[in-house]
Amino acid sequence: MAETTVEPLPDPPATTGFRGRVEEFLRSNCPPVGERIDAGHERVDAARAFQSALASAGLAGLTYPTRFGGAGLTRAHQEEFDEVSRGWSLPTFPLAISHGMCLPMLNQFGTDDQKARFMPANISGRAIWCQMFSEPGAGSDVASLATRAVRDGDEWVVNGQKVWTSGAHYCDYGIIVARTDPTLPKHQGLSMFIVDMHDPCIEVRPLRQISGDSGFNEVFFTDLRIPADWLLGELEQGWSLATAMLMFERVSIGAGGGSFAVDRSPALITLAQETGQAHDPRLRQRLADLWIREQIRRYIGSRIRAAVAADRVPGPEGSIAKLHGAILARTARDVSMSIAGTAAQAWDACDVAGARWATACLGASGASIAGGTDEVQRNIIGERVLGLPREPDPYKGAAWDTVPRS
Ligand SMILES: Cc1cc2nc3c(=O)[nH]c(=O)nc-3n(C[C@H](O)[C@H](O)[C@H](O)COP(=O)(O)OP(=O)(O)OC[C@H]3O[C@@H](n4cnc5c(N)ncnc54)[C@H](O)[C@@H]3O)c2cc1C
Repeated sequence: MAETTVEPLPDPPATTGFRGRVEEFLRSNCPPVGERIDAGHERVDAARAFQSALASAGLAGLTYPTRFGGAGLTRAHQEEFDEVSRGWSLPTFPLAISHGMCLPMLNQFGTDDQKARFMPANISGRAIWCQMFSEPGAGSDVASLATRAVRDGDEWVVNGQKVWTSGAHYCDYGIIVARTDPTLPKHQGLSMFIVDMHDPCIEVRPLRQISGDSGFNEVFFTDLRIPADWLLGELEQGWSLATAMLMFERVSIGAGGGSFAVDRSPALITLAQETGQAHDPRLRQRLADLWIREQIRRYIGSRIRAAVAADRVPGPEGSIAKLHGAILARTARDVSMSIAGTAAQAWDACDVAGARWATACLGASGASIAGGTDEVQRNIIGERVLGLPREPDPYKGAAWDTVPRS
């Protein structure tokens, strides 16, 4: 078996007085776990207001440098913040991609000018960012994407279409991967750019999901002009940056600490007690199984955040985290459906609790697709952790514009 790149979990040093500051802030600024947070656009406003208060309290962007708008603290502070915040419903879900993926990319690959210009507003929630990789013909095989960026003087001109872009309808900036040289093999001709989502050359069309929400969008670019210095990283290094960003995404979805990973077991244990089912031995076992998986997520997350705080891009452990997170989401869905019964599937229009369970259950399958499907994660783990043979690719090394596309 090949050796994994997974590092041992170091003990974080203690932080003095920090926990009290976080507890005091959360007590005054958000409801405890279990209370409902309003959906829709109000949710975005609530996220912006919360994040702005967090920044004013010196608690936003904990591990990022102060000169770029962060708090300049340590991973131990982040761990402590995550630990304390588990008891509270932080209204930060609309910022999950902005902070979980775009911010670490800016920090790791941005020029000093880009960091000074973009990071402070990102950290304080004044500017929310989205991530635009997937296209109608390029999801799992995202390296085959067709959106083109052509250099014209001091600008790049972008044409093409993205799809499934979470939050594009309320975002201020985005990170896009586009093809800058179609004559190179598919992984080599890609570059990454920052784009202004308010530009009139970008059209955002929301998509309606099974849960009733419109969390993601189609995004169309027609002769969009991007300043040349909004290139992120080096020209034609888009694939290695995209891989890094996907790892941040997988960590964010799967490893906890972020807004994607809320522990469901406390609310489900309460629900089992309230509905008189807490004595059912089979249900108790399933709740225990869920709780154990949540603890495993915490340890995977802690190990990966240590790597990120040490400025390392997470390796295949991001895929392990993502796959575990998706399995966990389905486990929570199945347990909650067996407790809530029909209320987890259909509910009266004025039944807020029913709507909450139903939306969580219907949304659970998306965790197995977003950030790379379960099958894709298993392929990565098979190849990069277990050392199994790579998937065959008949077009390996061929110029992108000579490869047939559907
Ligand atoms: C909730 C949610 C949010 C999202 N947000 C964003 C976003 O913000 N930005 C963005 O760019 N994208 C986003 N996506 C898109 C997501 O990244 C893609 O949906 C995903 O990568 C899969 O691509 P696809 O939908 O084109 O499916 P396809 O790639 O067409 O896959 C179809 C099926 O084939 C399987 N498959 C494909 N290739 C292989 C293989 N080599 N081996 C085995 N099985 C394979 C897949 O597992 C899947 O079951 C989001 C998706 C969801 C569900």
